[in-house]
Amino acid sequence: MRIANVEGRAFLLTADDRGLDVAEASEGKFGPDLTSLYEDWDGFRAWAEQTPEGVEKNFSRRQLGSPSPAPRQIVAIGLNYRAHAAESGFDAPDRLPPTFTKFVSSLTGPDAEVVIPQGGNVDWEVELVVVVGRTATAVAEDEAWESVAGVTIGQDISERVSQLAGPAPQFSMGKSFPKFAPVGPWLITPDALVDKDDLPLGCAVDGETMQDGSTRDLIFPVARLVAELSRTITLYPGDIIFTGTPAGVGVGRDPQRFLQPGEELVSWIEGVGEMRQTFVAADDLARKGS
Ligand code: ZN
Repeated sequence: MRIANVEGRAFLLTADDRGLDVAEASEGKFGPDLTSLYEDWDGFRAWAEQTPEGVEKNFSRRQLGSPSPAPRQIVAIGLNYRAHAAESGFDAPDRLPPTFTKFVSSLTGPDAEVVIPQGGNVDWEVELVVVVGRTATAVAEDEAWESVAGVTIGQDISERVSQLAGPAPQFSMGKSFPKFAPVGPWLITPDALVDKDDLPLGCAVDGETMQDGSTRDLIFPVARLVAELSRTITLYPGDIIFTGTPAGVGVGRDPQRFLQPGEELVSWIEGVGEMRQTFVAADDLARKGS
């Protein structure tokens, strides 16, 4: 099952550009917004699995928002792939990897135009994103997937100058500029994936592949990550977890490479879909507006 956010309304997808408006098809029992679906995810799933009938509606990519538009928390994980920890100059973690937030104000839909902050080195990090479907505190690892509504794609866009400046790294700030957390294009439930723990993912800049990995290489796979996080944090329905990025980020390259105005970043997870961001300079945008 796939759920999309079409201009704030939940759609149960029947194709990549078509689906049922959940509120209409359920006669107001669920929706119209996606946030309310996660609050009663088990009830919604039971309804959706009965293949509800209704009038299918077309939509375009431009109408898509984040499949969880108003999470109470966005949790993000660093150094969760060995090769990425190595390119970043760190040992792979044996306890919970570095954990930070991307502030909710940075959240956006799948196909955003992103402004490069003045003097910034903006980098890509394609990631599997998990959306929580049940309140979770201290869940066991073998039950943790049951707390997950589904997965989608995320880009943990990162401005490296502000991330690494100062006496201690500022992960949450360097990764929370406007639209630095594109998520989408839709939520897919774990049962609809061939292997939910082996999802090939990658990204390309102007057609050149930069990252090419698989979630089978996660040091803390989804179930272990959710279990570990839930020992400290209460996870709420609709919360978003960025699970970490594989190797190939710009800051780890020799020479280093960062996103330039006019470049297009395409990110994908096989079996899920793809997202596209274009990058613009801060002063270009000011000129356009004046
Ligand atoms: Zn990341």
